[in-house]
Amino acid sequence: MKPGKTAIITGASRGIGAAIARRLARDGMQVVINYASSAQQAEELVAAIKADGGAAIAVKADVARSAEVKALFDAAETAFGSVDVLVNNAGILPSSLPTLAQTDDATFDSLFAINVKGSFNAMREAAARLHQGGAVINFSTSVIGLALPGYAIYAATKSAVETMTNIFAKELRGKNITVNAIAPGPTATSLFLDGKTEETIARLANMAPLERLGTPDDIAAAVSFLAGPDARWINGQTLRANGGLV
Ligand code: NAP
Repeated sequence: MKPGKTAIITGASRGIGAAIARRLARDGMQVVINYASSAQQAEELVAAIKADGGAAIAVKADVARSAEVKALFDAAETAFGSVDVLVNNAGILPSSLPTLAQTDDATFDSLFAINVKGSFNAMREAAARLHQGGAVINFSTSVIGLALPGYAIYAATKSAVETMTNIFAKELRGKNITVNAIAPGPTATSLFLDGKTEETIARLANMAPLERLGTPDDIAAAVSFLAGPDARWINGQTLRANGGLV
């Protein structure tokens, strides 16, 4: 039997990334579950995917460090032969949501290190490793469209990701590799829920005409489309997956 494609999903120990790993494994891909610190959750996810008949490994790597990202791709190639799909999902958002004026240097630097440099590190590695028919899916946010106070630096990091997405797609001309981004709206994970009151969560959930929060599985379904055979003509785009919020 021809082995399935291999996908690296960064930040897949929890939240949206974990749902993407489960979904791509169900789609028949071999999945590489990257994490920074949640080793136990990553290993439990590997075990669950294997129990369902899938193939998965967990690899610790801080996406902000280029040498660790290189080692992540090495581990994927050693385990599964080659890498076909990169999902640049790892990202952070400060739960305190400081205004631009109240953002300290450490918060600014870590947001850019993980959200922008992390995505860059993995895209640069993907340019050298992905083959014809490959796909890169980056992560932006619908808050770029909403322009909510408290999200200035976070949204700025994701604007940088959207710009890299569009230009990287063009730079890969001739390789038959697509590069797109997903921009979720509020999605029920700890990144969104932590630090918010029930009232704030309910208000944000009701902003979309579909009147609910997104689920990690909603976002994983969009990633599955962009990573799969039906999206080969979609390239250089950002898909807002947000229930009609913006
Ligand atoms: P989450 O629940 O907080 O999960 C974040 C994941 O990223 C975890 O697996 C974490 O691993 C990993 N991670 C964090 N820093 C890392 C690093 N330096 N290197 C490698 N992995 C790292 O977040 P989420 O809500 O699933 O968000 C996933 C993506 O969607 C992010 O890019 C986020 O910006 C974007 N997004 C989310 C929402 C939302 O409402 N949830 C909306 C729009 C966009 P460890 O546990 O091992 O640290």
